[in-house]
Amino acid sequence: MSDLYEEVILDHYKRPRNAGKLAIPECNHAEGANPLCGDNVTIYVTVRDDKIEDVRFEGGGCAIATASASLMTESIKGKPLAEAKRMFEEFHAMVTGKEEEAERAGLGKLTVFSNICHYPARVKCATLAWHTLDAALTRPGGKVSTE
Ligand code: ZN
Repeated sequence: MSDLYEEVILDHYKRPRNAGKLAIPECNHAEGANPLCGDNVTIYVTVRDDKIEDVRFEGGGCAIATASASLMTESIKGKPLAEAKRMFEEFHAMVTGKEEEAERAGLGKLTVFSNICHYPARVKCATLAWHTLDAALTRPGGKVSTE
């Protein structure tokens, strides 16, 4: 990974943004686990007028999983649900190496994970928070596992 990418990921790992929880039942939440690496993350999200009003996370794991949760919450807060869903799809395509450089325009800082596609074992670390967010929005209270 390039130094710049590594620096951003380590910064979010050491000082996670939006760490914490939101009051249940006012929010939707879900738990996600990546047993291969030992990552565990709980996502709390509130939606108002079809927008992500607030989003927090608890847990984490390795640097990639924790930084991904931190950067995800930062990126989707205040965004319309449809846009957050599109970002998940683009992010997933990027980290699994299915997308061309030019199509990453909407991802902003999330492109720090673009090199993950060269490390297949870490893809689940990078996508855990996103899968868990998806579960919190579509199957609140549920649990997801990458296995
Ligand atoms: Zn991990």
